[in-house]
Amino acid sequence: MRLILIGPPGVGKGTQAQHLQELLGIPHVSTGDLLRSAVQEGSPVGREAKGYMESGRLVPDDLIARLLAERLDRRDAAQGFLLDGFPRTVAQVEALDRLLAARGSTIDLVIALSAPEVEIVRRLSGRRVCPKCGAVYHLDNLPPASSGVCDACGTPLVQRSDDTETVIRERLRVYGEETLPVTEVYRERNVLAVVDGSDNAAVVASRLTEIVKGS
Ligand code: AMP
Repeated sequence: MRLILIGPPGVGKGTQAQHLQELLGIPHVSTGDLLRSAVQEGSPVGREAKGYMESGRLVPDDLIARLLAERLDRRDAAQGFLLDGFPRTVAQVEALDRLLAARGSTIDLVIALSAPEVEIVRRLSGRRVCPKCGAVYHLDNLPPASSGVCDACGTPLVQRSDDTETVIRERLRVYGEETLPVTEVYRERNVLAVVDGSDNAAVVASRLTEIVKGS
């Protein structure tokens, strides 16, 4: 199954992607994660993307499309994948169409998660991540057992540099302007399911299970 998970930053895409990945046995392909790895490695792509990411802007379409094409050509994505964070612009929808057409496939389902802005800002500003193993925590909802330290590997937790309030507001503005039109494209193609992501993660996960099983 080829699936897209779409929604504003902080709506819970990462958590639900993990659930769907386990449910469907397909790889979770997050363009944000691919970019963060490139930045951490200091690769040419990473050096170009860094400034955009730190200010909450989108990196250029051609750069992200190249990174994604490489990832989708890996063997584990041959039978399906779950895309998270892409496409974020209508131009990226077209790039994805071309990329899939060249490989003889199409998108089966697009799930859009939604939540009110106040809830999103609350979730993102309290988010803390482990820079070593990628585990995600929340100061109120999901604190680590020992304050400030990853339960899994003991590494000190950090706040993503784009999870500060000013950058969060910018990311939400960009989402409204650039990414909401993407959901309309998929609505017109009759592959869109909209899901309320403001409930707790287990409730949202069971809604997603029903939708995926019924599709
Ligand atoms: P995310 O983890 O999905 O919130 O992505 C973090 C940042 O990476 C975004 O704010 C953008 O700067 C960049 N990014 C991730 N995916 C894309 C994309 N599809 N197009 C452009 N920029 C992206």
